[in-house]
This record gives sequence, C-alpha cells and structure tokens, in this order.
Amino acid sequence: MQNEFDKFLNQLDTTRRFFDVSENIYRQLSSVKRFLEVNIPIKMDNGEVRVFKGYRSQYNDARGPFKGGIRFHQNVSEGEVKALSAWMAFKCAVVDIPLGGGKGGVMVNPKELSLGELERLSRGYIRAIASFIGDRIDVPAPDVNTDGRIMSWMLDEYETIVGHHESGVITGKPLSLGGSKARSYSTAQGGFYVIDSAAKKLGIKKGATVTIQGFGNAGRNIAFIMEKAGYKIISVSDSKGAIINKKGLNIADVAKYKDEKGVLSGYPKAKDIAPSEQFAEKVDIFIPAALENSITENDAKTLKTKLVAELANGPVTIEADAIFAKNKVAVLPDILTNAGGVVVSYFEQVQNAYGYYWEEKEALEKLENIMRNSFAEVWKIGTEKKTTLRNAAYIIALSRISEAMIARGKG
Ligand code: NAD
Repeated sequence: MQNEFDKFLNQLDTTRRFFDVSENIYRQLSSVKRFLEVNIPIKMDNGEVRVFKGYRSQYNDARGPFKGGIRFHQNVSEGEVKALSAWMAFKCAVVDIPLGGGKGGVMVNPKELSLGELERLSRGYIRAIASFIGDRIDVPAPDVNTDGRIMSWMLDEYETIVGHHESGVITGKPLSLGGSKARSYSTAQGGFYVIDSAAKKLGIKKGATVTIQGFGNAGRNIAFIMEKAGYKIISVSDSKGAIINKKGLNIADVAKYKDEKGVLSGYPKAKDIAPSEQFAEKVDIFIPAALENSITENDAKTLKTKLVAELANGPVTIEADAIFAKNKVAVLPDILTNAGGVVVSYFEQVQNAYGYYWEEKEALEKLENIMRNSFAEVWKIGTEKKTTLRNAAYIIALSRISEAMIARGKG
C-alpha cells in the first residue's frame, strides 16, 4: 500500500509546478511540525492491562491552531496520520478558514471493546496528549469510528486535567456540551453543495445516477441528501459487501435494514454484489466515502463515470488519479469535497468562544456560501491553468499557507 504521506508529498511536488513556492517554504511543508507517539495502558474488563498505540500529528499552524479528527482503527499508522494532518491544513486553507492541520489516531478495533473499555481508552488518549492540545493550540474532532459520545468523554477528561471549562478544545460535541447544529451531517452536506455545483458545470441533471462507497457517517448522510435533492442512488456498500438496484434505492429503507442487521448484504429490494463490482456499473456520479486508496488503477480503468467526488480522504490512488485525468473524468478532490465537516467544526469553535449559539438554518447558510464559493474558486483556477480540480485546489491552498508563513517571517 502507498505510504499516505508520500502520496501527499507527491501532490505537493505536482502543485509546485503551477505555483512557485520558495525552497524555504517547501522544506518546511515537506514534514510535519510535531509528531507524538503515545502508549496508552488500559485496564480491560477482565483485569488484564493492554497497551494501545496512539498518535497525534501537528503538520502546520501558520494560519491558525492545528485542527483535525481522531481515528480509532486497527490499521492506523504513522504515515496515515501524518498525511491526514497535512490534508487538514490544505483543506482549511482551500475553504479559507483560519485553522492549520492536525490529526490523531489510535491503533484499535473499537468494535472489540466494551463500552467501559472504549471510555477508558478515549480518556487515556486525551491524558496522553493533553499538554499538546488546547483551543488555541490544537483542536481534535471525530473521524472514522469516533463520535460525539467519545468527544464528550475526551472533553470531560481534558477539562478535569486543566481545571477549567474550555469547550472549544474539541469539536463534534453533542449540543448539550456546546456542539454546533448541523455538525453530525456537515461533511455530507458540504460535499453535496460542491457536488451539486460541479454537476451544474458538467451538465449532469437531477435524476442522474449515483453510486456510493461506504455507508458510515459520510456515506449514509450523502445518500440521504442526494436522494432528497432528486438524484438516483443505485448502489451503496460497506466493508462487508455492496448492493445495487438500477431503478434506485430507497435510502431510509436501506438504512433501516443496515441498522437492524449491521450489514447491507441481503437487503431484499436490491441485488448483492461484491464491493469491486460497484466499479463495473456505469454511473453519472461516483462517491467514495469509505477509506483511503479504495479506488485503484484497475478500478479507475473499469469505472465509467463523469464525476468522482472524494467524500473520503485520499480514496483515489496516484495511479487511478492519472487514469481519471487521461479519461477526462472530473475528480472533486477530498480537500474541497469533505471540508464541510471542518467548516462546521470551525463554526462550533466560534460559537464556543462567544458562548452564543446559532440556529441550524444560519449554520447551513454559512456552510453553503463557503462551499459553493470555494468550488467556484477551484473551478476558475482549474480552467485558467488548464489543470485538474485537485491541482487547482492545492494551488489555492498552498498559496494561502505560504502567504501566512511569509507574513510570519518563515518564508
Ligand atoms: P465511518 O466509520 O462512519 O464509515 C466508514 C464506512 O466505510 C463504513 O460504512 C464502513 O463499513 C465502510 N467501509 C470500510 N471499508 C470499506 C470498503 N473496503 N468498501 C466499502 N466500504 C467500506 O467513517 P466516516 O466518518 O463516514 O468517514 C469516511 C471517510 O470520510 C474517511 O475517509 C474520513 O476520513 C472521511 N471524512 C469524514 C468526515 C466526517 O465528518 N465523518 C469528515 C471529513 C472526512
């Protein structure tokens, strides 16, 4: 598997061809500013102590505090966490919010833990990194396999350590602890504004067909939102299997089945297929919303689509990306498409700082403005420079990050 950070460096190199960044800046952006590796001892329910490895990567904070989620997954690795932290810095810059890039992860399959073990691990992780985070230093949030409940335990642990309230230290909290309305589905909602804007540019009409890979927070929510907006979702998948119905799936019904059975396979009103077979079906829009590198070169060769919208982080391998570019398939890059999550996290921080909370409508209006405007900027640069939307997004982000670094005298 591609080392994720190498994949990021490859993109940074490509971006340099379009935007002349100084050697001084480039050198600093080629590695993360700080990287923590922690070992977290947890007393399991059976009395045994297990030690879990955790990481926090702080890539760049020229534009504001480090910002990025915490992932609980057995395959979490140093390279992955570093890459995700770098992508966060570029993501915040492309949508022009005043934050840098960070990311955390713990090597664990949380499904194997009891609720008590999960809480002790969440608190243990925060104890291990507490001196390196803060609402003006580094602000974690949920990512794969972490949620509002876990953020609540983490906030409580952090506030107990520092001895004061600091709700802006973590975002993705429930409303009762200062969370933002719309945060739970903000990644998908933001993705929708970008996809819908791109569809208009590409002449893709409502009623167009959509395939979605992954049916977790991002995948499930985008399925609901796209269906409601008049798109036809023909296939969805999870880690165990995929289902397809060319006439269109009823997403509420599919979600009910998934909640009851824990899997999508066997859903009675669709055909079971292998996840790889999702690529074989011609579709107008393909949305990867699972994990990294889930679209390989072969998949890209097979897939007949007009638009790939990266709701997941880093789902398209470098080789697959080249195939899409050659075949003139538009790829909406992750740093733009899934930035809605961090935009609403930023709204959450702003509201925490003021202790004043907005209505959901207000948050959504602000999100739509930011996402549609950011897409328009990316599209414009892509057209001007005659390059991919990914390169265009990186050009915009790199220019903003380097401008902040130069202003700080770090250029
Ligand atoms: P999640 O854990 O809620 O869901 C992940 C989904 O992917 C699950 O349905 C899982 O079964 C499925 N999956 C795993 N392996 C698969 C495979 N090989 N084929 C098909 N499906 C597979 O995670 P999430 O929060 O929805 O995150 C998904 C992606 O979106 C990640 O890349 C994450 O970094 C990115 N993302 C999420 C957010 C957010 O706010 N949730 C924000 C930005 C980016």
